[in-house]
Amino acid sequence: MVWKPRKLTFLLITEANSPVRRFRIPRPMLWFIPALIVTAVSTSVVSYVRTTDALNRQIIDEREQFRQAAQFKDETIDSLQLEMISITEEADQIRERLEELRLLEEEVKRLSNVSIQSSPTISTRTTSGVGGEAHELTGNRLVEAAAETHHSLQDVHRQAEDISNRLATIKAELEEKQWLEEHTPTIWPSASRTITSGYGMRSDPFTKRPSFHSGLDISGKTGDPVHAAAAGTVIATGWDSQLGNYIRLEHTRGLRTVYMHLSAILVEKGDTVTKGQRIGKVGSTGRSTGSHLHYEVLKNGQPADPRTYLPR
Ligand SMILES: [Zn+2]
Repeated sequence: MVWKPRKLTFLLITEANSPVRRFRIPRPMLWFIPALIVTAVSTSVVSYVRTTDALNRQIIDEREQFRQAAQFKDETIDSLQLEMISITEEADQIRERLEELRLLEEEVKRLSNVSIQSSPTISTRTTSGVGGEAHELTGNRLVEAAAETHHSLQDVHRQAEDISNRLATIKAELEEKQWLEEHTPTIWPSASRTITSGYGMRSDPFTKRPSFHSGLDISGKTGDPVHAAAAGTVIATGWDSQLGNYIRLEHTRGLRTVYMHLSAILVEKGDTVTKGQRIGKVGSTGRSTGSHLHYEVLKNGQPADPRTYLPR
């Protein structure tokens, strides 16, 4: 038979003469104590596991955030590199176009006989670029590549400005040439191309003695239009017993033209005329043997052979 006490009694003796203290613990309580200990230990373990789990999750979360941030940074760097490559390539394409423009500029200069010094060839890309090594660029190298791209663009900008300046100079020179051409007597003053008496010494039609003919006699019928041989200003019109009805025009660089023996004068002193403008009509007024235009060119007051100015 197993002994099963109903109660357990503990005696507590503190000192030799003091009374003995007695505790009685009922039997069911004997199971409660270990259960209490087990519960306490279990609670501690669970609490510990939970805390550890939370810390682990926090570490994993932070690691994931860091990984995402690193990935975003990598993607951004890749994107920047691609952008730099694109910009550098565009700069190269612009250089090629600039070189085409420069060749065109040379052609324009050659065709228009403009005396501007030849323009330097467009420089090719001076930087090492970022093209082939795009995925090797990191850190400082990336910053350097960005700076090179920036310089490359500045270079393109400067070269474009150079071409623009040179073209502006060419334009100004062409305009000056055009103005000069407009104000130089290079067209025939009437429709006819027949010279009945040339510039220089000849036998005078009235006296038959040698005399100097200071212009061209150009055949024509009375009433045929007479045109200004160049743009300029009417400095004189009138009638003279020798010249008949006449017009004097002033052009540029000491050049003047004179039209004589006219049947009509269509301009007035002070008028501005354009090259080819109708200014009078062919006639036979003054000292003239028949209907024709006497046409003179004066250079700094001296007669010059008009044919040197006319197209061959
Ligand atoms: Zn004459």
